[in-house]
Amino acid sequence: MVEKIFRTNPYLDSCEAKITSIKEGTLTLDQTVFFAFSGGQESDAGTINDFPVKEAIAEGSEIYYVLGDGTDLHKGDGVVVNIDAEKRRKIMRLHSAAHLVYGIFSEQTGLKKLIGSNITSDKARIDFENETSIGEKLPEVEKEANGLIEAALPIRTYQDEKHPDKWWWECGNWKFPCGGTHTKSLGEIGKIKLKRKNIGAGKERIEITLEKE
Ligand SMILES: [Zn+2]
Repeated sequence: MVEKIFRTNPYLDSCEAKITSIKEGTLTLDQTVFFAFSGGQESDAGTINDFPVKEAIAEGSEIYYVLGDGTDLHKGDGVVVNIDAEKRRKIMRLHSAAHLVYGIFSEQTGLKKLIGSNITSDKARIDFENETSIGEKLPEVEKEANGLIEAALPIRTYQDEKHPDKWWWECGNWKFPCGGTHTKSLGEIGKIKLKRKNIGAGKERIEITLEKE
């Protein structure tokens, strides 16, 4: 299983690694800083030995990196993995923001069933099952979120004791299972904006964007 350095140190933008398998331009590594789409969080952008990663695929506990043809890499080769640091920082900020907004929203409205979430470097969205519009509640949720961001509450992420590939995000009284990449404080998120979208009968979406990119 690949060692996922992005979980222990999400701030690391580069690492050395060894190729543990390679087949038709797709390889696996012994360790990596490069996140692959899972849990609604988009993949990083980046390179392996300066070859652009076309796709990163998380499968079970493994990650497959698709480089395509013409790389001349072999099993056992040492490589350097680099990611787009700016993009990663935005994803980390929006990912922590998504947990925060979900936490506040559930507290203020009684828990609503989460039916999906998506985190990119542009915005985060969380989808709920809810019969009525949540539009009215958003300004209050936004205000509380920005207050806690200003208070810069610390965030703790840690490995599950029983399941090594399961991780937790914890802040204040909130604790959610998540293996994504997050900031280590709410303060790093900076001010956020919330927008409501109706995505069908009984379904509501909250969109989160960063006020300062
Ligand atoms: Zn998360």
